[in-house]
Amino acid sequence: MKILVINSGSSSIKYKFFALPGRKVLASGVCEKIGEPEGKLTQQVGDKKTTIEKPFADHGKALHEVLELLTGDGGVLADRSEIDGVGHRLVHGGESFSAPVLIDEEVIAAVRENISLAPLHNPPNLLGMEVARDLLPGIPQVGGFDTAFHQTMEPAAYLYALPYEFYENNKIRRYGFHGTSHAYVSRKAAEMLGRPASEVNVITCHLGNGASMAAIRGGRVVDTTMGLTPLEGLVMGTRSGDFDPAIIFHLLDQTDKTPEAINNMLNKKSGLLGLSGKTNDMREIEMLIEQGNERARLAFAVYCRRIRKYIGAMTAVLEHVDALVFTAGVGENSPAVRAESLRGLTEMGYDLDDEANAGTCAEAGDIATPKSRVRILVIPTDEEVEIAEQTVQVILG
Ligand code: AMP
Repeated sequence: MKILVINSGSSSIKYKFFALPGRKVLASGVCEKIGEPEGKLTQQVGDKKTTIEKPFADHGKALHEVLELLTGDGGVLADRSEIDGVGHRLVHGGESFSAPVLIDEEVIAAVRENISLAPLHNPPNLLGMEVARDLLPGIPQVGGFDTAFHQTMEPAAYLYALPYEFYENNKIRRYGFHGTSHAYVSRKAAEMLGRPASEVNVITCHLGNGASMAAIRGGRVVDTTMGLTPLEGLVMGTRSGDFDPAIIFHLLDQTDKTPEAINNMLNKKSGLLGLSGKTNDMREIEMLIEQGNERARLAFAVYCRRIRKYIGAMTAVLEHVDALVFTAGVGENSPAVRAESLRGLTEMGYDLDDEANAGTCAEAGDIATPKSRVRILVIPTDEEVEIAEQTVQVILG
């Protein structure tokens, strides 16, 4: 089957076009700066890169251009009707979705209802679904929510200790994100252990520009680090992760910062960027440390210490852990972060093999010593493949 996976953001549409089974990527690309005077569409088919620079007035125009490129000269399709399904990467499904779903009016209404929980993400996700339905009528569309995989958490894990009516009336609870990635790598970890996912306990560390961890017992999430929004938990590229919420009231009281400015600071100017004052990119942080930059060293230390604390917490939640997985940009590529995050945890069962850890991890690999009680795995994530496969499953019922 040929499946188009779409990730629709506020000013961009990213896409990947797959032939399944076999996970062959037929084409991939991104349309950027939608709604701005200088738009750009870049598509990769094998080694061939095509770039179109012109304005795209809205998401509809952008997706139209993507479909023209897929079907035009040198494209990978003779006609749009050869697309068997569209998989949408969606962010916040609230409590309405615990699995990928066929998109219909009800799903669209539910995503709209959850806008207040993800005001930056759900509106462009809605736009993506609407324009795809207009441009590809009759072709099944499937939605995979970032929150869905975490819906198995129990109230003890997802409730904040706030007055209960805020949960009942305002849906204030922990939802968790990066679910597609946590689902993909935890299943892959079970495969690597040679056991059914229903029988293994896994801690997954998705360390990308955004970062979160999940504790997964027998294929079901029992806890995760992100909350109502993707701000909670680990230190990220530009997001603070956990901090004392009273800081917000202190800043409102003591400075002339507005609530919006504080929100912006917590999401866009904190994390590695905020602490280092230089960059949100772990590669650059590591380079700066080599040059003796003290603030970069501090940013690295705070980042890894938070991961280490949560490894302890997730180990306690699971009681028995079979595997710990590192994935996403930092998790897959930074031996230094993996080593520092696991430092001192040998007695807890995490015994890193320094040599295996230092190797490159283009493919999945085990970096624990033979005597480590818990396997430590590096697994490249592939959220688009996961969504494409979920789309096929939903279409075939
Ligand atoms: P992602 O969101 O999964 O694409 O991850 C992006 C982040 O991965 C970048 O911002 C970098 O901080 C990080 N990253 C990518 N390659 C490396 C590397 N070789 N070493 C350290 N960090 C890396």
